[in-house]
Amino acid sequence: MRLSKIVCVGRNYVDHAKELGNEVPKEPLIFLKPPSSVVADGQPIQLTMMSKQVEFEGEIGVIVGERLRHADEKQARAAVMAIAAVNDVTARDLQKSDSQWTRAKGFDTFCPVGVPQEAPSDLSALEVVTRVNGKERQRGKASQMAFSIPFLLSYISKIMTLEPGDLVATGTPAGVGTLQPGDEVEVEVLGVSRVRNPVVGARS
Ligand code: MG
Repeated sequence: MRLSKIVCVGRNYVDHAKELGNEVPKEPLIFLKPPSSVVADGQPIQLTMMSKQVEFEGEIGVIVGERLRHADEKQARAAVMAIAAVNDVTARDLQKSDSQWTRAKGFDTFCPVGVPQEAPSDLSALEVVTRVNGKERQRGKASQMAFSIPFLLSYISKIMTLEPGDLVATGTPAGVGTLQPGDEVEVEVLGVSRVRNPVVGARS
């Protein structure tokens, strides 16, 4: 099984949409991060000279276990193989200046992913917490999402086939903030998966 794509969901928590001055969209807002952005637990997040505002976004990641194409929510739920902590690292200034988000979201090292673990039976009970230098900055529950995990997978599968191993990052709760060299950022899906990464400066 191989990661062929990372599908991300924007503005899926009301409080986060508001903090950036946005509404929750009427349909899920999706975008892609390249597989080349993935790093594991302990590997550094490298800042970039192109951005002055690189931010963390702690998210609940869903690993798909079966091919999904035009799936209904029940089929989508049954295909959830594992859950992983994800940090959807974002160059916020570039996200605002560019008309689409490939650059802002796609730098190498901008997608820390924790070791996937078996999904619990109740996905709505999943809770994600982000800590920077040990201090809690974000906390959100899957039950607070605008669009549930089965709904998201079903919706995405009507646009693009989801393959085994694909990762869906389900959106971030409120509290996003900037990362500086020397910081350590940790995203934990409570009791399930965590990913902790040091932040290093841009290549000169
Ligand atoms: Mg995000």
